[in-house]
Amino acid sequence: MAWDFSTEPDFQDQLDWMRRFVREEVWPLEVLGDELSDDALFRAIQPLQEQVRERDLWAAHLPPDLGGQGYGQVKLGLMHEILGTSLYAPTVFGNQAPDSGNSEILALAGTPEQKDRWLHPLLAGDLKSAFSMTEPEVAGSDPTLLRTRAVSDGEGWVINGHKWYTSNGSVADFLIVMAVTDPDARPHQRASMFIVPVDTEGVDIVRDVPTMEHPEPRFGRYGGHSEIFYRDVRVGQEALLGAEGAGFLLAQSRLGPGRIHHCMRWLGVSRRAFDMLCERATYREAAGSVLGDKQTVQNWIADSAAEMQAARLMTLHAAWKMDREGPRAARQEISLIKFYGAKVLFDVVDRALQAHGALGYSTDLPIEQMFRFARAARFYDGPDEVHRASVARQILRGYAPPPDGIPSEHVPTRREDARRRFAHLLETVTSND
Ligand SMILES: Cc1cc2nc3c(=O)[nH]c(=O)nc-3n(C[C@H](O)[C@H](O)[C@H](O)COP(=O)(O)OP(=O)(O)OC[C@H]3O[C@@H](n4cnc5c(N)ncnc54)[C@H](O)[C@@H]3O)c2cc1C
Repeated sequence: MAWDFSTEPDFQDQLDWMRRFVREEVWPLEVLGDELSDDALFRAIQPLQEQVRERDLWAAHLPPDLGGQGYGQVKLGLMHEILGTSLYAPTVFGNQAPDSGNSEILALAGTPEQKDRWLHPLLAGDLKSAFSMTEPEVAGSDPTLLRTRAVSDGEGWVINGHKWYTSNGSVADFLIVMAVTDPDARPHQRASMFIVPVDTEGVDIVRDVPTMEHPEPRFGRYGGHSEIFYRDVRVGQEALLGAEGAGFLLAQSRLGPGRIHHCMRWLGVSRRAFDMLCERATYREAAGSVLGDKQTVQNWIADSAAEMQAARLMTLHAAWKMDREGPRAARQEISLIKFYGAKVLFDVVDRALQAHGALGYSTDLPIEQMFRFARAARFYDGPDEVHRASVARQILRGYAPPPDGIPSEHVPTRREDARRRFAHLLETVTSND
């Protein structure tokens, strides 16, 4: 009976250390926000990264031959639940997006030369990367609509296109660009990935798009989302990452584990918001009692606890399935947690904000920042609607219309069948009467 919710003692020690370390060493950096330049922030983070390396926790998402731990998704999930409590923690542990996903693609599909030139320096923290796929003109949730083109000129490729929301584009050393290489191929075999150094002629990073996260325009800061024009960008054959036409396949392999990590990080954020909600319930008084005595607030607390527990178990189950049967087998579970986890995060943060009133809305607490963060979770990496539709389609494959159009559970029909089947008993009952 292999059904076990416990964590190995050695790994539990690591988790306990991470929880303490993130809280004591990383949380304090958050409140300095824009007071620290990126340079100063990385100087503060570097010694922390050293400690993470010493604990053998650096870039744990990668296989051991690339300096990772080869943990598998369940352990990574438990780890990300802790790292998710702070925006900076993933960077301290060497698995911040988008570098973590990009390093996974490079590890999976990169040639030995590409690994030497891009992957190893990325893992060492000497380079930064970005993933450039979404385009303002077409729906990002349907990547078969991509318009950016890469055309072979015999010696290499010429890329033309317009992207936005390329996270960290303006601080990256190289971009992984998704471009259509064969518009006539089947929809999911049209695009390929290219490694494009940012200083390649024709790469024009025009701005970091102001967002709910950073409403004020700012450029060249870590965590920005860049708008980029690619105008006759020439790259050699060596820029092609993976096989021609394999862009979607590679993107999928990056997204599956990434969604598990996202969902576990969201639980870290939810937990922090939940702790604030509960703390508030103990001391804020209104209309003769503390908030914790009001049934609505009690409902918020109980509902949040139940929903977080459900999301946690669903996510760990998806991770477990992925470890045992691979990403394809876990597709439905991953879609389930993507939209359910995003909703739980949103609702828990919203309740925490509501319970704090004006204080929650203010920047004196981190809840408003969590709220903005939570809003985006409902559409990046696939909007709620797309994941719901995908789950429903997969589920419906297991169903067929009933014969003769009569619902399988139709009681009069079942009663007739049952009467026939149990006629001898019914007769006995009648004769005993
Ligand atoms: C913080 C952040 C970071 C990001 N980082 C990156 C990055 O590094 N690289 C990158 O390439 N992109 C990035 N993105 C972009 C992100 O991947 C896209 O926003 C996402 O794929 C959705 O695409 P879209 O914005 O074009 O929305 P659209 O595809 O236009 O969708 C808009 C809405 O339409 C509805 N909809 C769409 N499809 C369906 C459907 N099939 N059924 C029903 N309703 C539907 C949904 O309500 C959806 O929210 C980032 C976005 C954010 C917010």
